[in-house]
Amino acid sequence: MLIDTHSHLLSRAFFTLAQAEEIIKESARQNIIIVESLLEPERYEENLKIIEKYNNVFATLGFLELEVSKEQVEKAIGFMKKYINHPKVVGIGEIGMDFFRETNRENQEQNFRQLLDFAKTTDLPVIVHSRAVGKYCFNILEEKQIKQVIFHCFEGSIKLTKRIVEKRWFISISTNVLYREDVQKYVKKIPLEYFVLETDSPFLHPLRKKEEKNTPLNLKFSVEKISEITSKSKDDVAKITSQNANKILNLNV
Ligand SMILES: [Zn+2]
Repeated sequence: MLIDTHSHLLSRAFFTLAQAEEIIKESARQNIIIVESLLEPERYEENLKIIEKYNNVFATLGFLELEVSKEQVEKAIGFMKKYINHPKVVGIGEIGMDFFRETNRENQEQNFRQLLDFAKTTDLPVIVHSRAVGKYCFNILEEKQIKQVIFHCFEGSIKLTKRIVEKRWFISISTNVLYREDVQKYVKKIPLEYFVLETDSPFLHPLRKKEEKNTPLNLKFSVEKISEITSKSKDDVAKITSQNANKILNLNV
């Protein structure tokens, strides 16, 4: 079994519904579990209905519009509240900040804090997007005393990685481990017990095929690469990362 803890198959900007369902079915045949990061609150319901049909798919409820008003965030939280008890919902996220994009940083932080305050009212883990802003996000999560965190698509320093591990939070390794040396570096240093896997489909194709969309079916490339870096067997990489994902997201698979 493999668990892709982060994908966007049900975002119509990237895949048609027919394409998404085909990928989901093939993933089921290959024993791949998928956790969809839903980012459109108005479409949570529609997408959860699709997810209900498949045993191998779960969802996290996210919102990552970076430059929006307090009211818009409030509205997103309203949708989260409505679906938080859905049996397929296993986390809040992705939420977070992104200094790679040119937006008002203060506004981003305000929105992130507002979403975290809501996340704290639930028992669910928080899936954090922290592009170019890892330490900053970490400090806010620490200050807010968030208990369970997955740093999605993590690409921070070794120092920060160690702080995350000390907190017993998780780091999600995406398919960019095939070509990002900084990611390879921390995969080598940090025990596998703190990692989960993701593709962030349709982004981050492991073979950097720009014309091709990434899918959960490519997780096997990460497993191969991580096995090579850590000198652990592919079976162990699959087993340990699946156990971790199962534990933090409470999937019971
Ligand atoms: Zn994402």
